[in-house]
Amino acid sequence: MALLEIRTYGDPVLRKKCEPITEITPELRQLAKDMLETMYEAPGCGLAAPQIGKNIRLVVIDTAIPGEEEPRPYIMFNPEWEAEPDAKVVPYDEGCLSVPDIFCNVMRPDKVCVRFFDINGEPQELHDCDGLFGRCIQHETDHLNGDLFVDKISTADRTMNQSKLRKMAKDTQAKLKKR
Ligand code: ZN
Repeated sequence: MALLEIRTYGDPVLRKKCEPITEITPELRQLAKDMLETMYEAPGCGLAAPQIGKNIRLVVIDTAIPGEEEPRPYIMFNPEWEAEPDAKVVPYDEGCLSVPDIFCNVMRPDKVCVRFFDINGEPQELHDCDGLFGRCIQHETDHLNGDLFVDKISTADRTMNQSKLRKMAKDTQAKLKKR
């Protein structure tokens, strides 16, 4: 197990569209476990591969409440979601490990179906994913397309967080230059 470095806002790796995974190798299984460990340590409830610098379609999610509920880790290779027919578009306060200290409402469907391949390469399909879990699926899948939640916030929220975001991007770029 290893903790991975979480990339932050302003890092170009977060803006690239990720490649589908064609074979679930032992290395990818290990990477997925390391991503889960990194996510728990952060702490967060979801992490997508670009956030640790890999442009591949892999996300990990666990929305169980730490210390109160048994862990419910999900490893999803090539996840794809769609809104359930009876879903409503609702606001929900989102944050992101790559965009620390910013929390804003994002409008998204409140219930989705997700299809993915699990760690054994078995196809899975989960219906009626709602609440934080349904949110996380959508937020993490966005990362695989180079999208961040701050792209989807209201103009007012963007204006309010503009200087914070600008500073974050500047700090990230300075850090990347030092490598
Ligand atoms: Zn995120």
